[in-house]
Amino acid sequence: MKNHDLKVWGSRAAAWSAHYLTTLADRPVRPSTRPGEVRASLPAEPPQEAEDVEAVFADFENLIVPHVTNWQHPRFFAYFPSNASPPSVLAEWLTAALGAQCMLWQTSPAGTELETHVLDWLRQMTGIGAGWHGVIQGGATLATLSAILVARDKALNWESKESGLFGQKRLRVYVSSHAHSSVEKAVFLSGIGRENLVKIAVDDDGAMRVDALQAAIDADRAAGHLPCALVAVLGATGVGVSDRLDEVLPVACAEGLFSHVDAAWAGSALICPEMRDMAKGIEQADSVVMNPHKWLMTNFDCSAHFIKSVEDFKKTMSITPAYLVTQDADDVTDFSQMTLELGRRFRALKLWFVIRCYGVSGLQTIIRDHVRWTEEMARRIANTDGFEITSSPQLGLFSFRLAPGHMADGAALDDLNARLVDAINQDGALYLTQTMHEGRYVIRVSIGTTATAANDIDIAYERIVALAAPLIADKS
Ligand SMILES: *Cc1c(COP(=O)(O)O)cnc(C)c1O
Repeated sequence: MKNHDLKVWGSRAAAWSAHYLTTLADRPVRPSTRPGEVRASLPAEPPQEAEDVEAVFADFENLIVPHVTNWQHPRFFAYFPSNASPPSVLAEWLTAALGAQCMLWQTSPAGTELETHVLDWLRQMTGIGAGWHGVIQGGATLATLSAILVARDKALNWESKESGLFGQKRLRVYVSSHAHSSVEKAVFLSGIGRENLVKIAVDDDGAMRVDALQAAIDADRAAGHLPCALVAVLGATGVGVSDRLDEVLPVACAEGLFSHVDAAWAGSALICPEMRDMAKGIEQADSVVMNPHKWLMTNFDCSAHFIKSVEDFKKTMSITPAYLVTQDADDVTDFSQMTLELGRRFRALKLWFVIRCYGVSGLQTIIRDHVRWTEEMARRIANTDGFEITSSPQLGLFSFRLAPGHMADGAALDDLNARLVDAINQDGALYLTQTMHEGRYVIRVSIGTTATAANDIDIAYERIVALAAPLIADKS
């Protein structure tokens, strides 16, 4: 019986979580786990009889926690952030307790209405204009896949829903060379085929060249193909570059292409009015995705997908077997009729908690701090002998590399930087990841975790310089 006592165990979980989140700075960001180590510590077979929660909890602390990567660590500067925050964690607990399915309005009226409402708050907060309908997806990957499926069907007058792609023209999808891999995935999963993803050249700022886009569309039409979608990026994953929406979206409109903006990471920054320049023209898109689960202090998963035409998404996604028919279907939103998922979690609750418990101004302060610290850290690295900045700060992201004066570009320099990333990540005080940029191995610094504070930037800078010193000395 006591195994089911949520009051007792909930208090334990709450105390444990608070302790974990406030002592993270003392743990290594990334565990030094070897592949297979976690499984080797677990019994091969499931228990036949109930175990005591006490024992399960102890194993959680001893066998699991030491082997997770601590994404909420204040010096997690790898990939992009994937934030939790106390109000969000609290709402996740309540969501789990409710265990509600939000597929139809009637399967959880508050789930549906709060989702609509809180995304309208986010729409207002980000200044993306009017006329959008929000839906929460499990990730930007799912939002982008949904958009590509709709673009595909719309280009084929929804005939594809019945007859597939058989006998149709080649559909063509345009992206810049900085687009996220999820676009490519959507293009092959949708049956459009990877060969029909057209990568458009970028200019010196990393933005899609509008003349090259127009030329590619013209050439495709001349070849008898069917241009169907443009996916523009705001804050690309590698080094944070963006397409100029006010240049490329008008081309999509004029050519009758469905347009989707992937702002998975950078979208959260739009809550700060002074950071909205990069999104100029966004109101012309058909679809925009941004991830509160990245940079808006909201637990994974919470991806905000804004769409112009609910009708178009319903045409592609809807299916109503007898057991899903509802009495009141006319004046309510049934989210599963416009999404890939049928069963849907109550994901709006945590975003509602976060927005209310921080307030818009509290969230703006966090993002402004991250952006300022990113600039400061880049400036300090730029002013340090033997280092160079390889891409300037874009919001909370920049990249750098070690480039001691005596070493020229090439494999040896790439190798030196790979060894620096290794040394940093073995050390445990911070966590960084790499990317290839303009043919070079560069090290990304992505600042955006809820718990990061000014002194974490000092600690990180000092560790990077200290760990680089012996590597540079080795080579001279
Ligand atoms: C993170 C990211 C994605 C993928 O987001 P998920 O929510 O993990 O699917 C897509 N595009 C960009 C630009 C991203 O940064």
